[in-house]
Order: sequence, then structure tokens, then C-alpha cells
Amino acid sequence: MDWIILIVFAILLYWIDRAYFQYLIKKNLCVQCKYDLSYSPESCPECGMPKPNEQIRCHTTN
Ligand SMILES: [Zn+2]
Repeated sequence: MDWIILIVFAILLYWIDRAYFQYLIKKNLCVQCKYDLSYSPESCPECGMPKPNEQIRCHTTN
């Protein structure tokens, strides 16, 4: 029954990775190097990583 543990572990890893990714986007940080992208609308000036599209539409601070 080892495969169940593997599947659960894989789902858990995927979920954590996804949550962390969304957290970085929400905080306006580069997903690659955690650079602050507040003043970089298109891509990261540090590593050149394109800024992810606005997937979180509920994030309205205004
Ligand atoms: Zn970066």
C-alpha cells in the first residue's frame, strides 16, 4: 500500500507549492528569486522572470 502514501505526498507537495506560489503573487514577489515586483509591472529586474498574470482577482485593495 506504499503507492497511497506516494500519491498523498505528491498531492500535498503540489498543494503546498501552489499555495506558496499564490502567496508570492499576492505579496507581489518574484516567484523565482522573491524580489519585490511592486515597481516592476512586467518582469523581474533581478532574474528576468516574467510577472505572472493577475490570477487572483479577489485581491482588490482599493
Ligand atoms: Zn526574480
